Amino acid sequence: MSKIQTIDPSAIDSSTLSASAFSVDKKKAVDKKQDGQPKTNLLGLSKSQLIEFFAKIGEKKFRATQVMKWIYQYGVDDFFAMSNLSKKLQAKLDQVACITPPKVKFKQFSDDGTRKWVFEVMGGSLVETVLIPADDNKQFGRKTLCISSQVGCALDCSFCSTGKQGFERDLTASEIIGQLWVANQSYMTDVPIAERENRVTNVVMMGMGEPLLNYRPVVASMSLMLDDHAFGMSKRRVTLSTSGVVPRMYQLAKDIDVALAISLHAPNDELRDELVPINKKYPLAELIEAAKSYVYETNPRHKKHVTIEYVMLAGVNDTDEHAHQLVDLLDGLPSKINLIPFNPFPHAPYGRSSNNRIHAFSNILNQGGFVCTIRQTRGDDIDAACGQLVGQVADRTRRSQKWQEAVKKRQQSVDEA
Ligand code: SF4
Repeated sequence: MSKIQTIDPSAIDSSTLSASAFSVDKKKAVDKKQDGQPKTNLLGLSKSQLIEFFAKIGEKKFRATQVMKWIYQYGVDDFFAMSNLSKKLQAKLDQVACITPPKVKFKQFSDDGTRKWVFEVMGGSLVETVLIPADDNKQFGRKTLCISSQVGCALDCSFCSTGKQGFERDLTASEIIGQLWVANQSYMTDVPIAERENRVTNVVMMGMGEPLLNYRPVVASMSLMLDDHAFGMSKRRVTLSTSGVVPRMYQLAKDIDVALAISLHAPNDELRDELVPINKKYPLAELIEAAKSYVYETNPRHKKHVTIEYVMLAGVNDTDEHAHQLVDLLDGLPSKINLIPFNPFPHAPYGRSSNNRIHAFSNILNQGGFVCTIRQTRGDDIDAACGQLVGQVADRTRRSQKWQEAVKKRQQSVDEA
């Protein structure tokens, strides 16, 4: 068991973010203009929106790219630190604008390199973000950030604790991109500005929520991830994961070129209807067709594949027969399959498949010609294993309450029997 470094909110204020000369806290107090109106939050604005903003305050458009670089490449949130802006412009920006990520409610860093944040977003709701480093946890090695796109989720997949919260609201672009900004900034504490660089190498839109149901803010955020004036990430390192909102998959292919993952979890409609209820609306044949279209028609010059996410639920979807069905289903779709050992949460109706079962399942997929990986359950010690991001997030919806009550009733009837 690795040692956990847990930092409560009061500790964050003094020991982490504010340790930077460009403290988040310092700015929190001044997010309103003198007339009491809110300042414009520049975090999350696209390049064209920023150009528009600068035009409105009578400034040239090249200021937009200058400021973008400060925000996204150096993690700076203080206009007075933007040394290539005149003092007059710095003061002007400070009067009307801010760079404000969602508030860090608490964070936990595990000594295997996994980091987890719980953010309080507008209205007091909480969302989680998890960073998982590559096995070797090298300073500059691969670091994958799993980002949330909604508070809760309406899709109610039966194995997912986020789904049990129900849906509360969509996140804004600043709340989505702010998760990446904060994760990168966590490596910048005490690093002089000139030496700062972003450490998150990969992003997966696979946290709380269904990203294609919060389409515009998600695409806007991914555009900033790819933009050379912002995070400048490779399009192969930004992945959107969907449970299968088929029409939006076709739309996505037209709007942005990122990697695609599909939360599949079942190889036939009967089982998938139960595990991933959106399957009743967009059954497997339509989903696989849309995935093929994404691979073959989006940009045929690029060799692409989709990643198939498949959570391993003991005795539910993990038999040899399921593996053979999966091989047949994915025939003709360039895919890599990622098997995810289920991470049980309180009252979860499923258990995790045994390691032997997972390996047997994986062997069948390999023999069927598929590259197959088994996700390591890193970050378990801080309740941060991928796929079950609800963790300690406050439960704010009636559906969850009902669900808890139903579980209680079921337990009572078992006890009484
Ligand atoms: S698995 Fe994804 S789509 Fe399904 S309920 Fe959970 S967050 Fe929503």
